[in-house]
Amino acid sequence: MRYSGFRVIAEALTGHKGWKPVWRDPTPQAEYDYIIIGGGGHGLATAYYLAKEFGQARIAVLEKGYLGGGNVGRNTTIIRSNYLLDGNEPFYEFSLKLWEGLEQDFNYNAMVSQRGIINLIHTDAQRDAFTRRANAMILHGADAEILSREQVRKLYPWLNFDNARFPIKGAIAQRRGGTVRHDAVAWGYARGADMRGVDLIQNCEVTGMRIEGGRILGVETSRGYIGAKKVGVAVAGSSSKVMAHAGMRLPIESHVLQAFVSEGLKPLIDGVMTFGAGHFYVSQSDKGGLVFGGDIDGYNSYASRGNLPVIEDVAEGGMALMPAIGRVRLLRAWGGVMDMSMDGSPIIDKTPLEGLYFNGGWCYGGFKATPASGWCFAHLLATGAPHPTATAYRFDRFLKGRMIDEKGQGATPNLH
Ligand SMILES: Cc1cc2nc3c(=O)[nH]c(=O)nc-3n(C[C@H](O)[C@H](O)[C@H](O)COP(=O)(O)OP(=O)(O)OC[C@H]3O[C@@H](n4cnc5c(N)ncnc54)[C@H](O)[C@@H]3O)c2cc1C
Repeated sequence: MRYSGFRVIAEALTGHKGWKPVWRDPTPQAEYDYIIIGGGGHGLATAYYLAKEFGQARIAVLEKGYLGGGNVGRNTTIIRSNYLLDGNEPFYEFSLKLWEGLEQDFNYNAMVSQRGIINLIHTDAQRDAFTRRANAMILHGADAEILSREQVRKLYPWLNFDNARFPIKGAIAQRRGGTVRHDAVAWGYARGADMRGVDLIQNCEVTGMRIEGGRILGVETSRGYIGAKKVGVAVAGSSSKVMAHAGMRLPIESHVLQAFVSEGLKPLIDGVMTFGAGHFYVSQSDKGGLVFGGDIDGYNSYASRGNLPVIEDVAEGGMALMPAIGRVRLLRAWGGVMDMSMDGSPIIDKTPLEGLYFNGGWCYGGFKATPASGWCFAHLLATGAPHPTATAYRFDRFLKGRMIDEKGQGATPNLH
């Protein structure tokens, strides 16, 4: 069933009786050509592009819970391509271009909103660093601008400009950045994949891998053994646990990242804004709530719940930047488990086991990567070769010292 404005009007006039479930609930088959483990944004996008762009069939996505119940439905919905390093910028710009055409491509309203993003500048050194970043972005074909203090004041006059500790001196802006309704991304990819014959199997946890003679034959699941010619792992925060079934230890730690929504306010922030002197970022949802977040909790965990010190830290960042929100009430807070890699950049690569492929290490920036990650992982699975924009995301960079350390913080996940 194709969605269109005409269809919505027709359904409204006939009591909305024609809408059908948007994906099937299939029973797992004995064997597939491709099994994708993880029904988050990346797993679903991979299955969608495998079928649509690479013409592959006999594909299943195995999800231990429900589709979109992981980080894809828990993030703060920000998309952007404002990276500095060669290994990253072309990939994230490819992703932003895919976001720009995504709703037409999968015929689903994901509320892609290019409302713009600004990263505030508080010191002269930061202006130099952001100017360098803007130049790198422009050289890679992305859009970037440096805004003066007065331009930022025009946008958001109520910011704390003259704070003696964190004066606002300007911003780097990417007008094509913005937000996308996160769970609709999972649903859109799921629907598009299902329409192309992909089996989306929920409540199906992968509990083991059958490996013989250096190649993967299939996976043990809570719904029985399922054979596969190729297996792609895209389980984000559970990466280390799932890859342990293959006897692999990853350069990844799992940490909780929390996010917050305030009560609804009148329109205040029309884009996305990040504080440059602390870890705090904010946008305003279409319902009026301020959606904001900060740093990961500093300890390793697989529990999707956070702790009070980070809440305090995020609230302090918010207050330093926007004292006007001091009396706004917090409505909800939640957490997701992040796959923090040791240089802050992801991995999309083959493993030493034939037929087993890995996609992970997205840290807290993987939502914006969803379309490109799915495309590049599908490319790798279908062709055996890395996509040109993802050639740097290999395991061996940690062995050879070719880190893509965007922040230059070293192997310290809580600093990325
Ligand atoms: C609070 C928060 C805010 C964030 N904000 C942003 C942001 O603004 N911008 C941005 O770009 N990124 C953001 N991120 C990061 C982004 O959400 C993640 O990097 C990205 O969603 C991870 O990929 P995914 O969607 O595939 O993960 P998930 O949705 O977590 O998918 C992984 C799936 O694998 C399943 N799984 C795990 N183990 C198994 C198993 N054994 N068998 C079967 N299935 C299994 C899980 O149930 C899950 O559904 C944020 C994350 C959080 C938590």
